[in-house]
Amino acid sequence: MRELIKINEAIVGREELDAVTEVFKTGVLSERSGSGPKVLEFEGAFAKSFGVKHAIAVSSGTAALHAALLAADVKAGDEVVVPSFTYVATVNAVLLAGARPIFADIDEETYCVRSDSVEDAVSRKTKAIIPVHLYGLPAEMKSIMEIAGREGIPVIADAAQAHGATYNDKNVACTADMTCFSFYGSKNMTTGEGGMVVTDDEDYAESLRVIRMQGEERPNWVVKLGHNYCMSEVAAAIGVVQLRKLLSFLEKRRENSNLLSEALRGSGRLALPKEPEGMQHAWNLYTVRLKGANAGRRAKVVEKLMAKNIEAIVYYETPVHMLPYYKQILSLKRGLLPATERASRQVFSLPIHPKVSGEDIEYMASSLKKVVA
Ligand SMILES: *Cc1c(COP(=O)(O)O)cnc(C)c1O
Repeated sequence: MRELIKINEAIVGREELDAVTEVFKTGVLSERSGSGPKVLEFEGAFAKSFGVKHAIAVSSGTAALHAALLAADVKAGDEVVVPSFTYVATVNAVLLAGARPIFADIDEETYCVRSDSVEDAVSRKTKAIIPVHLYGLPAEMKSIMEIAGREGIPVIADAAQAHGATYNDKNVACTADMTCFSFYGSKNMTTGEGGMVVTDDEDYAESLRVIRMQGEERPNWVVKLGHNYCMSEVAAAIGVVQLRKLLSFLEKRRENSNLLSEALRGSGRLALPKEPEGMQHAWNLYTVRLKGANAGRRAKVVEKLMAKNIEAIVYYETPVHMLPYYKQILSLKRGLLPATERASRQVFSLPIHPKVSGEDIEYMASSLKKVVA
């Protein structure tokens, strides 16, 4: 039997281990200010490589989103426009800030939030918009920034899956007021657990540093309510090495996705992922749609792939607005977001991470074509 082809895996080796060993030797695993030497090095390198002025390292992608909302002064009684077709963290961050998520629907082809639906969701209570660069593909940032600019609302992008994506030839990190990344093990680069907020705005950067460290402007001088969202020196040391490898990881993901699209082309039952003009997908997930399928038919296809040791995973089987907790507290109904609900019944993702070989791709494509035939 073949070894399982995992949907994503952390790719770490000797270099990361050496970097961690170095941190152990210094004896400094964390620093009270949140800005130990390795964290500072990681932040500096990240900002430079992503073309932004400030990068603030935090303990997770969820922490990054929550801290960004707090820096934008989002609080109880406010509304934040978000997609429902996303990982729950995007919405949890809004609720943790005390605000109410207002859901916008997605584009049928890109699965990212649609700007016309964002526009419909904006009200006088809207205090932020969170587009998600889903699967690694940038959302329609130009029109979303225009809507936000007209209303004077900050845009906080969720780029947890999109390290290295480009939009109009710029790194996607430069397209919102604040952009949040995750370094969880399944992302394009990892620190185990970790996150980063990037921004060109001096005031946001200052607030983020204060919020990350209990609200302290300087030691023992609290100016607002904060958290402990600091990144450890160990995580930052891994991040420095992973950042150096990011471009080669992205190239391999791109190559794999091209090969897979080539091999699956002509299978009329599948809608393959697209890369619109002017954008570069970061290919964290290669997501296909089983055209016209219901959830049961899709489940059978996924099950058969699993039986062939191909880890096909559904992101996201239940959109956030239909999960029990959110449905209850937000009193929402099914049918609210037709494109989101349709996608949640029809899509599934296939492995294309850097450890997937050309031979794996051929095996996946021929298996999938047989399964859907
Ligand atoms: C992974 C992810 C997050 C959360 O990141 P964590 O580091 O796991 O907290 C947020 N949003 C999206 C879209 C994600 O994929």
